[in-house]
Amino acid sequence: MDEKPPEGKKWLCQRCGNCCRWPGLVRVGDQEVDAIADYLNMTSEQFIEKYTEVTPDRRGLTIISKPDESCLFLEEPNICQINDVKPIQCGGFPNTWNFPGWEKSCEAVLVPKENFDSEVKKRDS
Ligand code: SF4
Ligand code: SF4
Repeated sequence: MDEKPPEGKKWLCQRCGNCCRWPGLVRVGDQEVDAIADYLNMTSEQFIEKYTEVTPDRRGLTIISKPDESCLFLEEPNICQINDVKPIQCGGFPNTWNFPGWEKSCEAVLVPKENFDSEVKKRDS
């Protein structure tokens, strides 16, 4: 079961890029495909052909990984090339979903919910 942040707190991503590097699926739904394709100035069909493959359960699409298992859109050092339109799955971790032991590989820090936006600004300044 996913670990929830304590009441009144949220984890703030520190942009370490680890979750873009570990093996796993980066699922994309129809609307995400359209938004990313638009962002990359290509058609959805072109995006699907070039950047995705069918998931092992054959129920959807996932972004193709590089040979080292990192996401194809991860650019060193730790830059998501589609950050403005990244999949919901990416933005939701670790607050909306995570897995046992996730905190060993993620550098996110707990901050009070009411300070979240200002902490994001501070992190990005
Ligand atoms: S789409 Fe961006 S945020 Fe999501 S795994 Fe790939 S590089 Fe990371
Ligand atoms: S592993 Fe955690 S801190 Fe690192 S980029 Fe992903 S969510 Fe952010």
